[in-house]
Amino acid sequence: MSSDFDVIIIGGGPAGLSAGLYTSRAGFKTLLIEKAMIGGQITNAELVENYPGFTDGISGFDLSDSIHRQATKFGLDTVSAEVTGVELGERNKLVQTSEGDYTARAVIIAGGAELQRLGVPREEEMTGKGVSYCATCDGAFFRDKAVAVIGGGDSAVEEAILLTRFASKVIVIHRRDQLRASQTAQRRAFANDKIEFVWDTVVDSITGDDRVTGLDLRNVKTNQTSTIEVSAAFIYVGQRPNTGYLEGILPLDEEGRIVTNESMETEVSGVFAAGDIRKNSARQVITAAGDGATAALSAEKYLSGQV
Ligand code: NAP
Repeated sequence: MSSDFDVIIIGGGPAGLSAGLYTSRAGFKTLLIEKAMIGGQITNAELVENYPGFTDGISGFDLSDSIHRQATKFGLDTVSAEVTGVELGERNKLVQTSEGDYTARAVIIAGGAELQRLGVPREEEMTGKGVSYCATCDGAFFRDKAVAVIGGGDSAVEEAILLTRFASKVIVIHRRDQLRASQTAQRRAFANDKIEFVWDTVVDSITGDDRVTGLDLRNVKTNQTSTIEVSAAFIYVGQRPNTGYLEGILPLDEEGRIVTNESMETEVSGVFAAGDIRKNSARQVITAAGDGATAALSAEKYLSGQV
């Protein structure tokens, strides 16, 4: 049975787009499948400052759009669909999606990760009513208001800095007394007098009837509880890989990330993984793009070796 495509790429973030650029340019018939917005999570970044080649930075949207247009110029096909399952046969790989099934001789899985929910009562109900996972999208709604950011990683700290543009005060609530974020982000946050830190503290519940009005907090060292008044809670407590449909099909680590070797090969021949979805990813745009290129080169080698 012949395949519809040489390569199917699952995921249209920097890893998938870069892989698509390489395989299309090399003349392989490639389909990229993306369930939401081309660019993935990075489209929420207003300014990417650490992607080489852009002296003044570039927005995550513009960067993704530009790579997508570049890849499309070389013949990359794109479909908007959600992948629901895969059958990874020796020669033919079947990718099942919300829009139908596609087949290819090789698959590159680059579906990235999505933001973790905090897991407090009423979080889902209050999403869009003050609970948010995207400061770039929602920050401007809270002009001159006090807002909270939950988390201590790069996302939390960078988004807290961004929110100071709108909010009167940004309160970062972190469960430890040390941030996980990079030194660069930490330095900027500590120098910003609109940002306050509440250390060793977790959120127990969200207050407010039809809009967020505050948060009930608990110090994890003293068990002392307190309440703060804020109009919004921006949640950045890590990410989980989009690998639900791969359980039992590919080896995953304890966090659900795909295990690859340094050539981005998985245990199944003709199946590669790239970017935030794989174990040991550095989780940067540049490394995702690099993973995508490596996966594409490995896929090209695999396809060229097939008779
Ligand atoms: P992350 O690095 O995994 O940080 C998640 C933060 O949330 C940690 O501080 C963690 O606390 C906290 N947390 C986790 N579960 C929690 C819970 N249930 N309650 C309260 N706090 C909780 O996630 P991220 O910030 O989204 O970053 C993901 C990756 O992307 C990282 O590798 C990061 O470097 C990268 N990234 C890079 C950039 C950049 O280069 N500009 C920007 C954004 C993200 P602990 O510290 O105690 O574990």
